[in-house]
Amino acid sequence: MAQLILLPGKERSSFKRHPWLFAGSVGRLEGRARPGDTVEVLSDDLKVLGRAAYSPRSQIRARFWTFDPEESVDDAFFKRRIAAAVARRQALPELKGQQGLRLIHAESDGLPGIVADQYGDTVVVQLTSAGADKWRKAIVAGLVKATGCARIYERSDSDVRGLEGLEPTTGWLYGEPSSAGLSIDENGVQLAVDVVGGHKTGFYLDQRDNRAWLRSVAAGKDILNCFCYTGGFSLQALAGGAAHVLSIDSSGPALAQARANLGLNPQLPAERAEWLEADVFQALRDFRKAGRTFDLIVLDPPKFAPSAAHADRAARAYKDINLLGFRLLKPGGLLMTYSCSGGIGLELFQKIVAGAALDAGREARIVRRLSGTADHPVALNFPEGEYLKGLLVQVD
Ligand code: SAH
Repeated sequence: MAQLILLPGKERSSFKRHPWLFAGSVGRLEGRARPGDTVEVLSDDLKVLGRAAYSPRSQIRARFWTFDPEESVDDAFFKRRIAAAVARRQALPELKGQQGLRLIHAESDGLPGIVADQYGDTVVVQLTSAGADKWRKAIVAGLVKATGCARIYERSDSDVRGLEGLEPTTGWLYGEPSSAGLSIDENGVQLAVDVVGGHKTGFYLDQRDNRAWLRSVAAGKDILNCFCYTGGFSLQALAGGAAHVLSIDSSGPALAQARANLGLNPQLPAERAEWLEADVFQALRDFRKAGRTFDLIVLDPPKFAPSAAHADRAARAYKDINLLGFRLLKPGGLLMTYSCSGGIGLELFQKIVAGAALDAGREARIVRRLSGTADHPVALNFPEGEYLKGLLVQVD
């Protein structure tokens, strides 16, 4: 095994169990290692710190698999870590019975670069680092063993693979592709999940609790759901007795899926749903001109800032939609507003939303913080693992 030797003082983050080693921390590599190979990591005074996946093309030069200098990184390692991730979720009563569930949340489950989501008997994996890519077979075997799933599909088509020098890869890795459409039951609502053509692994499981919360307050409300994708929030709002739900997305296929999802739920009042294919930035301005208002607005936009480098432009976009949202709320109205940008922390997000309320001339307060779900845990030492930030804001 090659050895990666750090510069003086650069071992400190590993004592805190931070899983990343940036290029600027690395002194030298002794021996040969190809992308994704496991290397032994040593401090400048040659103390062994653990074992990591080497990625020469990436600014994140290595990701720790283990901080135990004795632990081998082999098939059994992945079997153990994956079984532990699955067992962790089984131990949480709030996740019992969910058909759509994140099984592996990358670094936060001790498996850097590996995401796995379960939809019924199908598991979708996404491998985004050179190390994860290398261990594909072991990961598949570990998932089959831990879940007994019928099939596994790979959706490694995320842009971040490019940063590791990896090509996009997709395809069935295990089992017979299912010809029947895949769908899950989310708290009583049926949702089709397109694991091949949908976003990410097919669906946004991290909003499950927030959709359930919306359902609990929706009765009698006039609701606007912006960036609705396949209608997850919209359908839960209808299930909660909303008076009217207007849902906007710029993607025709996402809206077609949303409509089809409503069709899967004959118990829901379809006549209360309105779908609009439009740019949210423009649509909100049009509503303002038309004097249209709402009791509750959901703003769940795509990632405006993939990294800190894009934070400025993203901040303007968040400010813009939140300002427009505040202007469209009836007195006492509620705004469920989110950011899933890694480059924008909760504190900054709160500042942006505060600025938006101020500019909209609304008195407003946070009545609840809205976050991801228990199947998307965040390692205590790895705040980068926190993607979804949300605020529930009420205006006067
Ligand atoms: N709230 C959804 C997930 C939203 S994903 C859920 O719970 O499942 C973000 C969505 O925003 C995508 O469907 C994408 O098509 C849409 N989108 C991106 N930019 C947009 C824009 N400018 N106007 C409208 N929709 C947009």
